[in-house]
Amino acid sequence: MLIAKLPDMKNISLDSWNHPEFQKNELSIDVLRLDKIHPDISGNKWFKLKYYLERARKSDKQKLISFGGAYSNHLLALAAASGIYGFSSIGYVRGEKPRKLSHILQAASGYGMELRFLTRSDYDQKKKLAVAHPVDENESEALLIPEGGAGMEGILGAGEILSLVSLYRYSHICCAVGTGTTLTGIINSAGDNQKIIGVSVLKGTGGFEPLNIFQVINTERLDNVQMIHSAHFGGYAKKDQSLIDFMNQLYNESCIPTDFVYTGKLFFAIYHMIVEKAFPSGSRILIIHSGGLQGNLSLAPGLLQF
Ligand SMILES: *Cc1c(COP(=O)(O)O)cnc(C)c1O
Repeated sequence: MLIAKLPDMKNISLDSWNHPEFQKNELSIDVLRLDKIHPDISGNKWFKLKYYLERARKSDKQKLISFGGAYSNHLLALAAASGIYGFSSIGYVRGEKPRKLSHILQAASGYGMELRFLTRSDYDQKKKLAVAHPVDENESEALLIPEGGAGMEGILGAGEILSLVSLYRYSHICCAVGTGTTLTGIINSAGDNQKIIGVSVLKGTGGFEPLNIFQVINTERLDNVQMIHSAHFGGYAKKDQSLIDFMNQLYNESCIPTDFVYTGKLFFAIYHMIVEKAFPSGSRILIIHSGGLQGNLSLAPGLLQF
């Protein structure tokens, strides 16, 4: 079994993203590179797991159980973190066991996670248990963690992301949205006047979805939140050549690697908002790079130039 190295906050950098288009509008754009924390406990996943690990330790649980699909960055992060901190782990995976495991699941299993494949209905039923941490009847020594770390502990951890920057410098904060846990943590910890932009990577979301607005502490802050629903490229983990071209260009021009499931779509959406002059001149924008680069291993070799 492979033990992952420790996540390292010292690796995080604040990079600026420069582009002639941005200078024209007197915009400054910083990118908070959470992807650099760890190759597999990537970005926001570390923050979302932190308080679950603490809870497990405090309540003497030996085992961590969570849920995800075949490309779940959350399961991989949990597998790696469990190994480091001495927990065993089980990942319930939605759908039938494939003939060949995805790179993500192979890596999770390499870190010692036991994978259990469930039909969609069994999966949905079981994952509901985790929302308020009731124990799994067969695994009483385990802590159940909601899919995507989408519970209070996850939100609390994600709320610490902004403590890494001088928050007052920014007029806008932008992040990718899967379950909305990270975005909720950011809303809860942002300033009253900061605009927050969430780019949904899911198809068919609208309004504040997939955010659970009942988890937002100060609901007036929702007035500052703008959700983008038009940059999902056909849905979760879907892509087309224009997204790949954009990611290659971003890397070649600015040395910022992105993943095709989340951050590629985030940067694409923000870039197009800038071109369409959606940001007032003089805006100071912070983009949260939430990691996920390991997901690019499922792309055909050679598609990406990084
Ligand atoms: C999981 C993930 C997200 C989505 O985070 P949520 O808190 O579920 O909204 C964003 N970016 C990357 C790279 C991820 O792996």
